[in-house]
Amino acid sequence: MTDRSGGTEAKRRGCNGSSGIHMSAGGERAGGAAPLPVLIVGGGVTGLSAAWELQQRGISYVLFEAGDFFGGKVQTEHTDDGFLVEKAADAFILGKPWAAELAREVGLESEFIHPREETKKLYFLRGDELLDFPPNMKMFVPLDDESFLRSGVLSPEGLRRFLAEQDVPPRPDTGEDESLAAFVIRRFGEEALDFIVPLAAGIYVANPYELSMKAAFPQFLALEQKYGSVIRGSRATPRAEGPIFMSFGGGMGTFAAAVAAKLTGELRLNTPVLRVHPGGVTLAGGEQVRGSGVIVTVPAWYAAPMLRLDFPQASAEVGALRANGSVAIVLAYRAEQFPRDMALHGLQVSADAETQARTRMKAITVHSAKLRGRAPDGHVLLRVFFGDIEPGQARAEAVREIERLFGVQGEPLWHSYADWRGKNPAYQVGHLDHVARIRTALPPQVRVAGASYTGVGLPDCVNAGRTAAREVVGASLTPTA
Ligand SMILES: Cc1cc2nc3c(=O)[nH]c(=O)nc-3n(C[C@H](O)[C@H](O)[C@H](O)COP(=O)(O)OP(=O)(O)OC[C@H]3O[C@@H](n4cnc5c(N)ncnc54)[C@H](O)[C@@H]3O)c2cc1C
Repeated sequence: MTDRSGGTEAKRRGCNGSSGIHMSAGGERAGGAAPLPVLIVGGGVTGLSAAWELQQRGISYVLFEAGDFFGGKVQTEHTDDGFLVEKAADAFILGKPWAAELAREVGLESEFIHPREETKKLYFLRGDELLDFPPNMKMFVPLDDESFLRSGVLSPEGLRRFLAEQDVPPRPDTGEDESLAAFVIRRFGEEALDFIVPLAAGIYVANPYELSMKAAFPQFLALEQKYGSVIRGSRATPRAEGPIFMSFGGGMGTFAAAVAAKLTGELRLNTPVLRVHPGGVTLAGGEQVRGSGVIVTVPAWYAAPMLRLDFPQASAEVGALRANGSVAIVLAYRAEQFPRDMALHGLQVSADAETQARTRMKAITVHSAKLRGRAPDGHVLLRVFFGDIEPGQARAEAVREIERLFGVQGEPLWHSYADWRGKNPAYQVGHLDHVARIRTALPPQVRVAGASYTGVGLPDCVNAGRTAAREVVGASLTPTA
């Protein structure tokens, strides 16, 4: 197994010796006049990024992580038989530069890898049919009409209506939010939901009738306003050169571990925070630690109770943020169990009623083909995604689907699963206003940051952590104690 703690040094700092900034319960500082550190709650990618930013600015900090490793949802496991299993993120988008920038800053360039071009085949499951994913797409937007019309991913009428988006006038720019479903129906027609929802809502594991366009996909609203059409706008905007996604040879866990290993401040593993105050935190067990600011990077459902006593209004707003659930089943096979070559990236499942009546599966990723080094030669590693269902049921269904779709013979060599039920932030319509209310309800030296608020992808989490660090440092220049 990987050392997920960021190295023995980080763990030692975290679990044992601490460096003398602890307060007595009365809040007296033990060590004289040095400035109080900024306190960071949570050691996921957001918290680690906040710590890194503070370190770059020469500001002392203490990071508290409830668990016994850094990275939060970013978890990579190496099995004894040579597979590399990602529990959550397997790659991140390069269009938002912040995660790649941080990876460079901590010296990870030699680990950079990208999804393999030579296996870049994708399918779209509609009914019983495994269709080729339409070529020449930018996310869900077809860059040419002909290949999309030939694809069969919607009915002929649905495909024509989809492309007629080019003639739908833009909505007046009122700044009002709307759901993904309302946006898609308005611009691409109702049937388009069957194709767009698996691609778009899948990232957010969201109900498309609730998912906020302004929070999740502002780029499509901007294209509508600028070009009068999402399709015309996408075609007018040149595609970025080079790869779109990035990962690490040793898995995503390498990223968190590398950042943690470069942190020279105090990192405390196995240290849950119970309560956040204007001037510090209370730890489980009652110890109080004073700080010049507090950055709370835990998900909203953990943050709300921490804020309840000292910031009741912010706590109520944070507690009103919703979450969705997902389960990922990991299956390992020998390549010879498959009658076909599994050199493909995976498949997406249509959201139409007929397909949904047959399967609760949302998508499959063929990890062994998508990224190098995920399985030993001659083996296939799959991740099968479901919504909020019981992992045992998901596992049985995943095995059945792999048999039905790919004709696999026999049982998997092993299986595992990642249970993210209730753990995926749901950005509901009005989310950005909601987050603005939370910010207003907190003093400037206390910030909440992370996947619950300003983007679930790792680049957004890195940016959120670093931004919160800069804000708290700015705020704490004015003494508050
Ligand atoms: C199945 C799945 C697949 C994903 N795939 C991708 C992908 O391919 N690409 C991508 O960019 N993103 C992906 N994501 C999203 C991304 O992984 C997360 O949004 C991101 O890792 C969240 O980071 P975070 O630091 O904000 O929160 P978390 O990772 O949740 O970290 C919060 C930390 O706070 C700690 N904590 C909790 N309570 C306390 C407490 N009381 N005191 C102290 N610490 C506490 C937790 O232990 C945890 O370590 C995926 C997510 C999931 C679930």
